[in-house]
Amino acid sequence: MNNGTSRLEKYADITVEIGLNLQKGQTLIIDAPIHASDFVQQVVKVAYDKGAKVVMVEYTDEQVLLTKYEKAPEEGLKHYPQWKAKGYEKMAEEGAALLQVFSPNPNLLKDVDPERVSMAQKAIAEALRPFKSYQISGKMNWCIAAVPSKEWAQQVFPDRSEGESMDLLWEQIFDVTRTNTDHPVQTWKEHVETMNSSVRFLNENNFNKLHYRAKNGTRFSVELPKVHKWMCANFTSEGGVSYVPNIPTEEVFTVPKKDGVNGVIKSSKPLNYNGYLINEFSLTFEEGKVIDYSAEKGYEVLKSILEADEGAKYLGEIALVPHNSPISNSELVFYNTLYDENASCHVALGKGLPIALEGGPDMNNEELAEQDLNESLIHVDFMIGTADLNIDGEKESGEVVPIFRDGNWAF
Ligand code: ZN
Repeated sequence: MNNGTSRLEKYADITVEIGLNLQKGQTLIIDAPIHASDFVQQVVKVAYDKGAKVVMVEYTDEQVLLTKYEKAPEEGLKHYPQWKAKGYEKMAEEGAALLQVFSPNPNLLKDVDPERVSMAQKAIAEALRPFKSYQISGKMNWCIAAVPSKEWAQQVFPDRSEGESMDLLWEQIFDVTRTNTDHPVQTWKEHVETMNSSVRFLNENNFNKLHYRAKNGTRFSVELPKVHKWMCANFTSEGGVSYVPNIPTEEVFTVPKKDGVNGVIKSSKPLNYNGYLINEFSLTFEEGKVIDYSAEKGYEVLKSILEADEGAKYLGEIALVPHNSPISNSELVFYNTLYDENASCHVALGKGLPIALEGGPDMNNEELAEQDLNESLIHVDFMIGTADLNIDGEKESGEVVPIFRDGNWAF
């Protein structure tokens, strides 16, 4: 991979400069699988070049993890060292940034007792809660970026050899993360500005209703809560650092009014749910609730999603992604939300995102419900964007403004 090396550097540049926007003097924590070390080494170089004080790399060896899940006594599964959790918390408190290198292995846990896995994961989650709160609440600048694993590459390209599928997945990652451009960091700055200007347009117009229609039969309207807010994945940390937590990201999103969805929504791409595919499906909504549904493939899985709890039959997110964008153009299913969620316009069944309401993060559950935000244990995104999708925004005054024409921004 001769010119691959330089693209890996560019990918590391995007991750550090755009994703994290690492500041001079900041400590950087990197959480990564050991097979991603080529990429991590590049990130570490860029990070020190950018003035990092220290870079702490925490590698995970999947096989060691697997052996632990299989063989460790229960008290070992339930144990996470307090000194380590405290150390992370201390670094976050002192202003560290966090990079999570994501490289899923869909087969790793397939033969392990799920109860043992959840026991271990619960212990980790509990021990790291104070540290993770810095990430979840956006107090720290953090970013997640993906690197292929052999197993993930085989899942995306099942008909190719191991080596070929890895090369192909890298090529796709470089493509959809805009690494394959002449000046990736500059390209990203422009891309983030495009997303922000769409956010401004939508917020300034303050639409109270959106109307969708496409030739595949999608035809529905969705009301927006009074205090809804359009956003994109460009956040500002407590320390004032503007960062982009997901590489890649294409979506501009908000929340629907729980009981304000009416009409028919057709899926435009397969939905991969815990390894099961649901394809060519259709949902009919009345006053926010799914009252009828069908699926060419995966009907039973769709049914189990919709019956998860009361809120699972209502929407909790609506997101706009231009049809002409890198992930959409790849026409691939990545089996990975970080990528697939950014493929096209989508909606999510289930939990609404409090961050998309003015003052939402400070509201309790009752207050969120009063603002018509849906509550559920699930949040399942599925794609509805097509090349001919038209979306109009309707203002309180009744004025109608085009938002999408033929699958892309209309303004
Ligand atoms: Zn989304």
